[in-house]
Order: sequence, then structure tokens, then C-alpha cells
Amino acid sequence: MDEISVKNLEVFCHHGVYKEENVLGQKFLVDIISKVDTREAGKTDELALSVSYGDICRCVKKEMTKQNDKLLERVAERLAECILLQFPQINEVEIEVKKPWAPVLMHMDYASVKIKRSWHKVYIGVGSNLGEREEYMKLAKERVSGLPKTRNFKSAAIIETEPYGYTKQGKFLNTAYYIETLYTPEEFLDKLHQIENEANRKREIHWGPRTLDLDILLYDNLITEDEELTLPHPEMTKRLFVLEPLCMLYPRGIHPLERRRYADILEDLKGKEQ
Ligand code: ADP
Ligand code: MG
Repeated sequence: MDEISVKNLEVFCHHGVYKEENVLGQKFLVDIISKVDTREAGKTDELALSVSYGDICRCVKKEMTKQNDKLLERVAERLAECILLQFPQINEVEIEVKKPWAPVLMHMDYASVKIKRSWHKVYIGVGSNLGEREEYMKLAKERVSGLPKTRNFKSAAIIETEPYGYTKQGKFLNTAYYIETLYTPEEFLDKLHQIENEANRKREIHWGPRTLDLDILLYDNLITEDEELTLPHPEMTKRLFVLEPLCMLYPRGIHPLERRRYADILEDLKGKEQ
């Protein structure tokens, strides 16, 4: 991917662990490397099709002088987030915050913290089969689409399906969402659990009735084997009620482990169930 960079942007501000640093202030140098597709701007010479590095510099200065932090880690984190939220064309940004006058009483060029942050594509499976199902589906959509640090929310249509696993329970409403987020997979799962709790979800019977179930189906093409968060969701390829709505959003997507398109996995599964 193409890059638009600013190197050693000078900003005078007041971050630091020592009180003196917060009072006197000092010079910071910032490197910002933004991943942007510059091809259209390159063909047309239109600034509107790219990102203005002047705007990036102003955004960095404003964010750095807005509040005093102790750590360079915190400053870098805030800068990455503010750039990714403010400039939709930037999918990934690398930030290095340097402190050339760091008070260590020894000569050095600078001390610095460097981080890389980006937007992540997430697919979510949604289900409800207890109580006011429509209301819970509405709540889920409102809450997920309204999460901070997210963008480009999309929802599949809602389908009604027979229960799976524990079959002595009511029919499900199911759907799938697509969203882009700055949260890590663990942070995002935590947000989904908060929304489930808001819908009075009680974990009683495994695969049993639930007011609202929000599962992470995919987080980019990440593969994990952690029990708390298994990705891709281990049951997704066995469940019509997950694959059907997922295919409304992402039929040509390829399962990172099975290396097959979701639409093809769905067709096979439909064949088996007949
Ligand atoms: P299920 O969704 O399988 O019916 P639960 O919603 O009760 O069951 O989830 C049980 C646990 O599964 C959660 O506490 C969560 O930590 C874990 N889990 C593992 N991988 C995922 C995933 N990809 N999405 C959501 N939860 C997951
Ligand atoms: Mg779940």
C-alpha cells in the first residue's frame, strides 16, 4: 500500500512522568506514516482523492496539546486513534513519538515509542430466541452500530430458523453484521458481552435459549485457538443460520482455515441437510 509520511514534526507540549515536564514543557518529534491508496489522486491531481499531510500535522498538534499525558505510549495511542477516526482514507497508521530532551541526564538522540494501528474488519453472528426477540434484535443493531471506534456498519436481513443443539426451545431470529473497528478482538468481544448483558442474557444451558447471542465469526483473517476467543468461530461452517446471513454480506469471502468460499460451504451444507 502507498504511504503518505511526515517525519520529525515538531510539537512543543507538556507530556512526561515528572511534574517539571508538565510545567515547563519540551520539544517532541513525531513521525506519521499513513497507508493510503494514492493512485486516483496520482491520476487526477485532486487533493480531495487523497489525504492532506497539512491536515495530518494540524490534527497531531491539536491532539498533542489537548491534554498532558505521562507516557509516550499514551500519546502515540491517542494520535493513532485520532488520525484513523478523522481520515477515512487511512486504513493503517504508524506513529513514532520521540522525546529528544527526555530528562535522563545522559546524551542521546531521542527516546521514542513506535506503534502501528489499523482498522479491522469484523463479521458478527446474531441470534435471539427468548422473550421479545424483535426488540432484542433491534437493541443489538442499535448498540453494535453505535459502538465508538467503529465505522461502516452493515446488517444482513433477519431470518427465522429452527433451534440447533438443544432442540426443546423456541425458534431463533438470526442475522449477521459487518463492521470495521479499532478495538482488539478481546476488547470487541467484551463490548459484545456488555450488549448481551444489557439484553438480560443469562448463560444457563449451553446452546440453550438466549435473549441475545453475539458471536465474533471473523476478525480480519485472524486464526486463534484461545478458548475465550476462537477465530474463525469454530461452529460457523456447520450452521446454516450463521452461513445464510453471512453470505448475504460476504458470499465471496474465503474461510481462512478451510480455504473455501462461504457461498460454497453454504451450498454443501444445504445439500447435506436435505
Ligand atoms: P455459544 O455462542 O456457543 O452458544 P456462548 O455465547 O455462551 O455460547 O459463548 C460461550 C463462550 O464462548 C464465551 O464466553 C466466549 O468467551 C467464548 N468464545 C470463544 N470464541 C468466541 C467467538 N468467536 N465469539 C464469541 N464467543 C466466543
Ligand atoms: Mg455466543
